[in-house]
Amino acid sequence: MQNIQEFIDLGLSDTSIRAIQEKGFEKPTEIQKRCIPILLKGHGDLIGQAQTGTGKTAAFALPLIEMIDGMKGTKQSERPKALVLVPTRELCTQVCTEIQSLAYGRTVRTVAIYGGASYNIQLRNLKDGVDIVVGTPGRVQDHLERKTLSLEDVRVCVLDEADEMLDMGFIEDIENILSQMPEDRQMLCFSATMPQPILKLASTFMHDYELVKVQTNDMTSSLTKQIFYEVYEKDKLEALRRTIDMDPNFYGLVFCRTKIQCDEIGEKLISMGYNAEALHGDLSQTQRELIVHRMREHRISILVATDVAARGIDIPELTHVINYCLPEDPESYIHRVGRTGRAGKQGLAVTFINPREFRKLAFYKKIAKTEIEKKRVPSVEEIIEAKKKTLLEDLKRIISDAEQGKCPESMYSLAKLLGESHHTTNIIAALLNDKYGRATDTSKYGIIADLYDRSSESRKEPRQRRERPERAERSERPAKHMQKKAPSKKGKKKANTSRFKTLGK
Ligand code: ADP
Ligand code: MG
Repeated sequence: MQNIQEFIDLGLSDTSIRAIQEKGFEKPTEIQKRCIPILLKGHGDLIGQAQTGTGKTAAFALPLIEMIDGMKGTKQSERPKALVLVPTRELCTQVCTEIQSLAYGRTVRTVAIYGGASYNIQLRNLKDGVDIVVGTPGRVQDHLERKTLSLEDVRVCVLDEADEMLDMGFIEDIENILSQMPEDRQMLCFSATMPQPILKLASTFMHDYELVKVQTNDMTSSLTKQIFYEVYEKDKLEALRRTIDMDPNFYGLVFCRTKIQCDEIGEKLISMGYNAEALHGDLSQTQRELIVHRMREHRISILVATDVAARGIDIPELTHVINYCLPEDPESYIHRVGRTGRAGKQGLAVTFINPREFRKLAFYKKIAKTEIEKKRVPSVEEIIEAKKKTLLEDLKRIISDAEQGKCPESMYSLAKLLGESHHTTNIIAALLNDKYGRATDTSKYGIIADLYDRSSESRKEPRQRRERPERAERSERPAKHMQKKAPSKKGKKKANTSRFKTLGK
């Protein structure tokens, strides 16, 4: 956590730091490090170039929030002080959500303006007073023509994903919009690439600007975090389940050594309710292609594979690579791990080792010239916490959607009716329990021997292995309510299939 100091050093307020901690950011990305101090000065134009997934949104959103917050208390118009242009409606919602979570309780009235949604609701939101408008160029231009939006008070204008906006043919709209803002507004432009048209746009609409460019290869090596868990063979499945459950967006490869193991783990995951599939050399070419295709389309989220079967297949945006078994040699370790953390997305590589493989892993580390950090298998409490956090984010999105008018009137009248006879908190809790109670159920988790604190001394004595499981099991601290229910093999509850799937993505 000492890295949070790096955020503090950028000059951000305490509330922003708290927001950042809440979001789990540990240290600023390169583009954030270089842009935030410039933007906090509150003047001067800037072009920021860095590859996708490097946190460009927070790089401009944090300074914007600080600016809006700093204006509180002074008499301000109800017209927007900042305009963020984005290429698509998805990005529009995404940027709004990021701004809201970074605002962390500060009132930053953000309105999303995009095509395909009702004008009336957008109109109402604009009339209520707004600090930041996040919009697609087409719809913003429409509102300007209808005179339902005024940019007279805009102090900062951001072109986000500028290259994509130009690719989509928004150039005229953008030029039009930019010409309707005060001359002295600050202009920021963020993009993954910097094609000629952007520089041309900049030379027309920007004053002297700073160019902050982050080289692509700065990030690649740091994009995959590598950790390992020391677990007994018999506990590996439970460790896998917990690793998967820690991330509700889990989308990963699980590497096994043999075809048989591959099938076995695949089947077990499926019976636990996961969207998994096994991929190995016994399947026909067509079957394998079909499975990989379904994985790419995100219809499967977990692929259990052998090294051979996974060779040459490319699945972008994997969140995890799990080495259920330590690979045969350091080269395959590097190869497996290199499958995540690509295209600018942060990835996590988790290796399971049994106590006898400790030295082998140390050797891999040396050959691969990489740090593989020892971690404790997530506890049930940590999993539930993580689930609650994602649930909260998803719920906030659903609520924000409703505020944008995506909830029918009949629901509002029902809500009113309920509100007459029950406390709001009780109503919400009951509904949440009905819908998500199962997702946060802890009874499906088994006990796992905690080897985290074992000294390296005991590791050298494989003979004692036999008695160790029981001892370690006793030292495990399961959740209080679990102790009674520690699952016997037969009475095991049916796996919980819900991973907030009902929420959709
Ligand atoms: P870009 O616009 O550069 O493609 P985003 O702003 O969409 O990237 O960020 C990608 C993801 O990284 C988001 O989920 C965001 O919350 C997260 N993120 C941003 N900054 C950090 C950071 N300093 N540490 C960890 N994650 C971060
Ligand atoms: Mg972006």
